Amino acid sequence: MNALDRLVTLLAKLPGVGKKSAGRMAYHILDTSADYARDLAEALAGLHRSIRHCSLCGGFTETDPCPICTDSGRDASLLCVVERAQDVRVIDESREFHGRFHVLGGLIAPLEGIGPEDLSIGRLLNRVRREGVREVILAMNPTLEGDTTALYLQKLLKALPGQDSGVEVTRLASGLPVGGDLEYADRLTLSRSFRGRVKL
Ligand SMILES: [Zn+2]
Repeated sequence: MNALDRLVTLLAKLPGVGKKSAGRMAYHILDTSADYARDLAEALAGLHRSIRHCSLCGGFTETDPCPICTDSGRDASLLCVVERAQDVRVIDESREFHGRFHVLGGLIAPLEGIGPEDLSIGRLLNRVRREGVREVILAMNPTLEGDTTALYLQKLLKALPGQDSGVEVTRLASGLPVGGDLEYADRLTLSRSFRGRVKL
């Protein structure tokens, strides 16, 4: 396999990229300067070296704890629970939410053999207890797994000992398409979902 074919094969593994667009990208990289190709290669090579998971929230970060967890301007009483680390960025960019995040690292999916013990649920409960969280916003996608996970978390959070006033549990509501994906929701839809969140 020559260098061009190898690049096409690798690019075609990216989500949403077919063989045809991979070919277009590869030729574009070849036509553009060698500097660009080198910058691209360096950015790719350095990705896993410089980006890691925040030890507090599980989000992607270059510094640990991440800038969101250490930002004193954020409302620590609000905790938004998301499925994946990339969801943090999507929600943060909507500028509707000014609290902190917690990444579960997946959703409960019995058919795929993913149970609650595979997710960072223990750490979530600890944070709710220790960080003076008043409201937990469940922002998982409105899918079967998302619903199952939200229900499971709701029960655990409501039963937390030492929560005399009770921690409020809400879920993103209107606007998000059923079976849809947070990642593809536009900023306005996401803002509306936050404002219209419902008590569980
Ligand atoms: Zn963090």
